[in-house]
Amino acid sequence: MDRFEKRYRKDIEKHLDYDTMKLRKQAGNVRRSLKKKSKGSRGKPVTEENWEDVSDQASRKRGPALDLRPPTSDWPPATDAAIVISVAGARCRVFQRGQEIDVVLRQKSDLAVGDRVTIAGDHIVAVLPRRTVLSRPDPSNRHRQRVIAANLDVVIHVVSVKAPPLRPRLIDRFFIAIQRGGAQPLLCVNKIDLLADDAELTALDPYRELMPVILCSTKTGEGLDALRGAVQRRTCALVGHSGVGKSSILNALDRRLQLSIGELHRAGTGRHTTTASTLYDFGDETYLIDTPGIREFGLWNLRADTLAEYFPEFAEAAEWCRFNDCSHLHEPDCEVKRRVTSGAIPAARHDTYRRLVEDLSAK
Ligand code: GDP
Ligand code: ZN
Repeated sequence: MDRFEKRYRKDIEKHLDYDTMKLRKQAGNVRRSLKKKSKGSRGKPVTEENWEDVSDQASRKRGPALDLRPPTSDWPPATDAAIVISVAGARCRVFQRGQEIDVVLRQKSDLAVGDRVTIAGDHIVAVLPRRTVLSRPDPSNRHRQRVIAANLDVVIHVVSVKAPPLRPRLIDRFFIAIQRGGAQPLLCVNKIDLLADDAELTALDPYRELMPVILCSTKTGEGLDALRGAVQRRTCALVGHSGVGKSSILNALDRRLQLSIGELHRAGTGRHTTTASTLYDFGDETYLIDTPGIREFGLWNLRADTLAEYFPEFAEAAEWCRFNDCSHLHEPDCEVKRRVTSGAIPAARHDTYRRLVEDLSAK
């Protein structure tokens, strides 16, 4: 018996006669929440028998979070801070007043692309506080954070459905890391020219509820205008598995860029085309950051008991679980599990959640 199970067995013993009361409470909750939402419009009465269906329907109706937050007005900082374009050891390249200059970092610090820094002569004197980050565990020491890029408005996860095949678990992991770092997620599905029909996109359905999804093809140009609109006046990082078309997208968005394409396939060694993150100035306060192709994305400093916070589609259901600290895995009367069974919560997402809890508990 693991510690979760032990704890919940105890809870069950304590709360056994709560069942009926709880059911009534849940029916009441649904009734109230629907009343609030529909502001008095007519609907079927909510009873102890049908509250589950009604709350499923309500959760399905919640639309995708399609609009991006406007760029904040207090950013960039009013100082004449420079922005870090690339980092190589203690040397780094920055933009300052429209010019690219090379500077050195004298103290040891984990500088990242996108950082705002102040400069004196040829060296950095201060790194300004970060607004958002995208980070992962350092590959050489997983207890340390490696910041992939800083001060991002949007993290664009580029995926392809066919070649390379879609990896929903990587989307799930990036989505957690993006939420934790404070930037907004955007899913960009490239190479749609390779798809025979829309049925091949069904695996993406769970994500349409969670973040804006843009379908595009650098071959046909489809979706590129939507992407241009989404990145405008923002700092965005492109992340994803190598070979999905990140460099192709950057080149397509700005014809002056000439990033090398598809070295992965030519060399056949599985090595990444891009080796470090680089920031590109697209003008009009638009900065795009190319990041190294990533196959595995570790999660930094994450705890099993707070993981559910990063699965927003569980949040409403979790309010109905019998136990306040329900793990949504083993407990009886778990509304999250019930909605997974009914199909209101995508089973694939719950499956990722379960695997991550198991991974994190094993550590
Ligand atoms: P990166 O590793 O993510 O930077 O991917 P690349 O931009 O290097 O592209 C990898 C391969 O995918 C190259 O052979 C590109 O020509 C190809 N590619 C990129 N975009 C598309 C697309 O929209 N459709 C198709 N069919 N192939 C693409
Ligand atoms: Zn639960």
